Amino acid sequence: TETVERHSFGAEVGRLLDLVVHALYSEREIFLRELVANAADAVDRRRFGALTDAALALPADAKVRIMPDKAARTLTLSDPGIGMGKDELAQNLGTIARSGTRAFSQSLADAKPEERPSLIGQFGVGFYSAFMVADRVEVTSRKAGSDEAWTWASEGQGEYTLAPATRAEPGTDIVLHMKADAEEYLEPLRLETIVRKWADHITVPVTLVRDGEEVPGTKGTALWRKPKAEVTEEEYTEFYRQVAHAFDKPWATLHWRAEGQLEFTALLFVPGMKPFLAVEEERESKVRLHVRRMFITDQAGLLPSWLRFVQGVVDTEDLPLNVSREMLQATPVLARIRRAVMAKVLSELKTRSKDADAYAPFWQAFGPVLKEGLWEDAEHRQDIANLLRFRSSTVEGWTSFADYVARMKPNQEAIYILVGDDVEALKRSAQIEGFSARGLEVLLLSDHVDAFWPERFDAYEGKPIRSITQGGDDLSAFEPEVSEADTPADLADLLPKLKEALKDDVSDVKASQRLVDSAVLLSAPAFGPDLQMQRLLRRAGR
Ligand code: ADP
Ligand code: MG
Repeated sequence: TETVERHSFGAEVGRLLDLVVHALYSEREIFLRELVANAADAVDRRRFGALTDAALALPADAKVRIMPDKAARTLTLSDPGIGMGKDELAQNLGTIARSGTRAFSQSLADAKPEERPSLIGQFGVGFYSAFMVADRVEVTSRKAGSDEAWTWASEGQGEYTLAPATRAEPGTDIVLHMKADAEEYLEPLRLETIVRKWADHITVPVTLVRDGEEVPGTKGTALWRKPKAEVTEEEYTEFYRQVAHAFDKPWATLHWRAEGQLEFTALLFVPGMKPFLAVEEERESKVRLHVRRMFITDQAGLLPSWLRFVQGVVDTEDLPLNVSREMLQATPVLARIRRAVMAKVLSELKTRSKDADAYAPFWQAFGPVLKEGLWEDAEHRQDIANLLRFRSSTVEGWTSFADYVARMKPNQEAIYILVGDDVEALKRSAQIEGFSARGLEVLLLSDHVDAFWPERFDAYEGKPIRSITQGGDDLSAFEPEVSEADTPADLADLLPKLKEALKDDVSDVKASQRLVDSAVLLSAPAFGPDLQMQRLLRRAGR
């Protein structure tokens, strides 16, 4: 009809659409997040406008509705937000208004391929992701405070039309005519899963129409955005269970807001128990990244893998919503957030470690994971070392490096450790006899990682950490506390004979000061893998 105006996108936007459709997002389902995010933004903007203009007031039951229609093969999103007038439809959807198409294309041409997604993120073109799943998009909008409505429509091929329309209330309807290969997005259950995953914590409720009935699509409010004083322990626990898929109570809850140069809110939990799915199997931190409440990814590596047991959410204002994975890896904002979040977690663990009884369950559940940091993270080795707890040959319960050092003999230079599979067996080991006889304490380590980290973290506060199975035979500086009645037998005749008999199996046979009750023990060379490491290497077939 005559009232329909035709506009062309211009060559650059045509190319841009192509790029968005084919290269922007690795996951197609993201179109729904972008459209729900826009709808929620529009509702937020109307709510904000209503603060100064009563005519903009939102209806009491403001919500975003998602309506699939299989017969018509359309998906409709409807919101009571601020809406768009004719010019805004043309500006916001018809051009890359704020930045300018030309500037955008130029940056795109100048950028290396791996930098392109980040550019798209900065230029805010989330709306176009609708064309990943739809071959025609119609947007009918009425701006709040106006009676006029307009429909913007496009097939994403270089043209769009604008025509007068009617809409009973202010707000926006977006109708997607789905591509033949995108019909899965007309399944209510599929839509529900996507919305739950990406948008469960936006402030506006989202509903879905399923079998003619309207059902809640999201249930969450963004709990982390509430002030700490307004959140009950039950709410924290329920939220923890939801994000961590857990059934226990959190051992620690960290809820804080960073302000100033870097703005983010974080709500993190340390679980009360080791989860069923052993944390050893997962390698990456699953802490969720949100941008303005909207879920972005749980693969941003917000914490290092040695803190991967920490669960929760970090929500920031400082990243664009349609930030891509590729951009996440490169952006300095995220690097700074990571550093701040890690520092907070470490300082919380440090504080909680002062209460030995309260710290023990945490240590038992996650100590082995934390110890991986000694191997991996040179920068934080010292902080981690102070969080470690050990079994000991001389004291009950758990002890720390600092406590050990305080108990060291005046002329003792090294921290002695013995690594094996089982603490009880280590306590009875012949390796320890000579140390026990001289009142020297040995730390007993039985986690899998204990075979590895001493190689990289080999001294605590200047005291070398020494595996007692590694040569280190010289205990002459220490007087035995139990006086030995019998003088050592004369071994001069025996040693050469033993050496000859065992020549294929051991490199040397020596008299030792380290034995009290046992007759012999195996010892590793002073330099090279200790006995536990040799056992592991043998098991691994080397
Ligand atoms: P961004 O959201 O990053 O600005 P988009 O491409 O997602 O980029 O959207 C472009 C613009 O279109 C938005 O900034 C907004 O002004 C407008 N817009 C999109 N969807 C809606 C909506 N449902 N209601 C009102 N305005 C909208
Ligand atoms: Mg958007």
